[in-house]
Amino acid sequence: MTSESVLEIFKTITTIPRESGHEGPITAYLVKWAADHGLKCKTDSTGNVNIIRKASRGKGHIPTLVLQCHQDMVCEKKADFEFDFSKDPIPYVIEDGWMVAKDTTLGADDGIGIAACLALLESDISCGRLECVFTISEETGMDGAEAMKQGFFSGKTLINLDSEDEGQLFIGCAGGVNTVATFSYGTEPVKPGYSCVKLVIDGAQGGHSGDDIDKGRANAVQQMARFLYTEKKHGLQLLDFKGGNKPNAIARDCSALVAVKDPDATIERFKVFGAFLKAEFATSDPGVCVSAKTVGSSAQAVKARAAGRIISALAACPHGVEAMSQDISGLVETSSNLAAVRMGDGKCVVTTSQRSSVMSARDMMAQKIEALFTCAGAKVVHKFPYPGWKPDVNSHILQLCRESYKKLFGTAPLVKAIHAGLECGLFLEKFPGLDMISFGPTLRGVHAPGEKLELASLDKFVALLEDVVCQFE
Ligand SMILES: [Zn+2]
Repeated sequence: MTSESVLEIFKTITTIPRESGHEGPITAYLVKWAADHGLKCKTDSTGNVNIIRKASRGKGHIPTLVLQCHQDMVCEKKADFEFDFSKDPIPYVIEDGWMVAKDTTLGADDGIGIAACLALLESDISCGRLECVFTISEETGMDGAEAMKQGFFSGKTLINLDSEDEGQLFIGCAGGVNTVATFSYGTEPVKPGYSCVKLVIDGAQGGHSGDDIDKGRANAVQQMARFLYTEKKHGLQLLDFKGGNKPNAIARDCSALVAVKDPDATIERFKVFGAFLKAEFATSDPGVCVSAKTVGSSAQAVKARAAGRIISALAACPHGVEAMSQDISGLVETSSNLAAVRMGDGKCVVTTSQRSSVMSARDMMAQKIEALFTCAGAKVVHKFPYPGWKPDVNSHILQLCRESYKKLFGTAPLVKAIHAGLECGLFLEKFPGLDMISFGPTLRGVHAPGEKLELASLDKFVALLEDVVCQFE
């Protein structure tokens, strides 16, 4: 196996449509490829594929090794670029040592994993039995890994080929759960003489609620609640509160509609508050800013008691890092994201999400949020729980990869875990005791037009993979 052979296969894969949820063409390609190469192939009703290569002569005693990647890719293109992901080959160039798709996603996440598996399967390397598992719809919810049945693969050691930083070995990921609180409220008339003011916090950077939760960025929802809490003593009435968007994104903007006795004074205090935000986030989130204006009158406000409970709960709700890992330096172990608030029809819905690589800690964090909102009179439900993968610094496959890396390149790889989801977490739930690791070549700009693959890192990735597969026993 060579990086050239992997790259040639990847170039073929760029011509095969494989948007998440529409993996039919790539699934069919893999099944046919296995048949053409005389290899046994399993599929399940979800679309997952397992291509099996028998042990080489004299290697029958070695335990099975599983290599795993995902079939689908994120399909994003520049707005003005005419392109149909359901049929057009991905246009790419090779320049300055990178393979780049300038106007679309490249799909090296995770097409390069597929290519590495196929190159390995058709190579003449001598190794034990291999199972190459290709899941579907990783990017949109890990549906393939989620639906996979016990026994779909039999190996007890798995190498996931869906990481994006050469020189780093990943040995853990976070599990998560969404916790949603719903307040019910009645309305009451806006007090005579009160005027409506719209308060806006925006310009914050936001980001991913896993990867970016430790970056100290402003959470617009949390900051708005903070201001409204202090403003309550001036006799504020709440009419609307809207901020954030997806459960896995940090809230970049938030607006609140309030009725107050002295709008100029409220606007003035909000400006002062904006200056505090600018100072507090000068390093981590310098774009955050506030604006306020009086708006046309409104008849009804949220009843005072309910408004008080909503504002207090949001002001008290934790956001950010709860605990750092004691095993892996710099890894966030447990966190919570105050993600979004929406009001209407007598309901105020607050969406939060918790993550941890330790399942009991994930559940503790979710319980903490539940307890807070229950105290404030909201009804709380937990949705979409998924398991994490707790780092095992004594893992056998980790030792092997580490030694191999040092032998090949003369330096030690970084051993890391991520505070986001990987399919590995789901495998661990179904295949308890599975020993896993994840590594890959360097990719940049994944999930967006301009995604690129560093070719020098591909050489090292391929060398490491081949060596580990040969050494594994
Ligand atoms: Zn991926």
